[in-house]
Amino acid sequence: MNSIYKPISYIQEELDLRILIPDRLIEKMRKMVTKHFPNEFGGIFVGYYSDNKKEAKIEDVLWPNQFINSPQTFIRVPNDINAALKRMYNESNGRLIYLGEWHSHPLGPDSFSILDFEAIKSIAQDKKIKIDLPLLCICFCHREKNNFRFYVYHENQLFNFEKE
Ligand SMILES: [Zn+2]
Repeated sequence: MNSIYKPISYIQEELDLRILIPDRLIEKMRKMVTKHFPNEFGGIFVGYYSDNKKEAKIEDVLWPNQFINSPQTFIRVPNDINAALKRMYNESNGRLIYLGEWHSHPLGPDSFSILDFEAIKSIAQDKKIKIDLPLLCICFCHREKNNFRFYVYHENQLFNFEKE
């Protein structure tokens, strides 16, 4: 059995939500944020919600070619990822959609900033982005320490997931 494809499961008990992500994608994110250390780096999640909206299944992670970053900022050029997202949407007959954002906080903390909160809030409120429960992942990867903290935006709050 190839353990690389085993999904990791995160749970948010209050909202009864679960995130499933293959550990090869966690590894992909870890590699990218380590490569850009000590600057921030990130991208988006692609996947789908189960029919009952209780499980977010992440199928891929994308990152932009064009971005502005520093140890405390990461701004991606939106159009850069949109073409890839559109292609995945079409090729999967509308199954694969945008699920949320991920970026690193190279020197911590693994909690979100006020700016992160405002950014995910505006995504949730954007009528063009059809996502009810956008995810946010803060990646803290420094030396041998790795921590991926997942949040979901719901009713003006970010709810924190625990690894199952
Ligand atoms: Zn941040």
